[in-house]
Amino acid sequence: MSRTTSVTTLREPAELVAHGLAPAADLPDLERVAARYAVAVTPDMAALIDPRDPDDPIARQFIPSAEELTTQPSEDADPIGDHAHSPVAGIVHRYPDRVLLKLVHICAVYCRFCFRREMVGPGKATALSHAAYNGALDYIRAHPEVWEVILTGGDPLMLSPRRLTEVMADLAGIDHVRIIRIHTRVPVADPARVSREMVAALKVKGATTGQARAACADIIDAGIPMVSQSVLLRGVNDDAAALEALMRAFVECRIKPYYLHHGDLAPGTAHLRTTLAHGQQLMRALRGRVSGLCQPDYVVDIPGGHGKAPVGPNYLSDANSFSREREQPGETRYRIIDYCGDVHLYPPEP
Ligand code: SF4
Repeated sequence: MSRTTSVTTLREPAELVAHGLAPAADLPDLERVAARYAVAVTPDMAALIDPRDPDDPIARQFIPSAEELTTQPSEDADPIGDHAHSPVAGIVHRYPDRVLLKLVHICAVYCRFCFRREMVGPGKATALSHAAYNGALDYIRAHPEVWEVILTGGDPLMLSPRRLTEVMADLAGIDHVRIIRIHTRVPVADPARVSREMVAALKVKGATTGQARAACADIIDAGIPMVSQSVLLRGVNDDAAALEALMRAFVECRIKPYYLHHGDLAPGTAHLRTTLAHGQQLMRALRGRVSGLCQPDYVVDIPGGHGKAPVGPNYLSDANSFSREREQPGETRYRIIDYCGDVHLYPPEP
């Protein structure tokens, strides 16, 4: 199969065939897939695909396949339960301190693995109406526990810079919203869309308080990424509230929480160390209280120079502890613990 270069986003299976990105024999099946799930392959993504490679990893992400017509019993149109946690249109409030704000239902590319594939794409739901958007903002204003708003959809960077400026200003005007996260594939899938205007729209003006925060902001504004390495210290940060405040402060300063070190066995430091069991308990509490952005890896440096090992709590129980009689053929079912400590089966029973 040879490929011709596309200059526009490919949206029809016939176009994929014409550009050498799908076999002509698959066209009828691909038409059926496209009738159900949106298709879009930007020129940037198409250019990365090697049509001679049947396992091309870029093609696997964006080129539809007849296999998409098969649904397994454990698969679900709303696999992570957005609907159950949507109090008003456009909002998903699953965890106490953060909400999803779904502004649009279109994307630059349509990923074949998309977990919202039944909700995204032309012809599905469209952008929030003006009234629904205002209702979503009112919901966030009325919930002071919302520290982080995650713009998602669809891909929020499909909005115009003008609209993004308005959204960012609206959110920045809510005091308790300290973090705005954006879920997007645009910078990779359609980099030309990230214009100066768009970057300016995303840059929320805010005051930096405190010398340490200002110093970090100077370093990060110079293009140097920062990550944190904290030590778990008895009487300093070994309670959930202190750890939560520390990790939130890092993220507000654009510093990624990286490691939470269990205290090393240095001479004369026993009074500052806590136990691994207590550390695990704190990590569980942190998982229940704050965003995934705020989760460091809890690690111990193995004495003798064997390197670090993650020692955080395990949320997946041994498959052997579950009756194999109830498994689907070829499928192992696990017990998995959620952030509240409740236990669920994975995959769930159909
Ligand atoms: S960009 Fe995100 S929302 Fe859009 S299709 Fe891909 S995974 Fe789904």
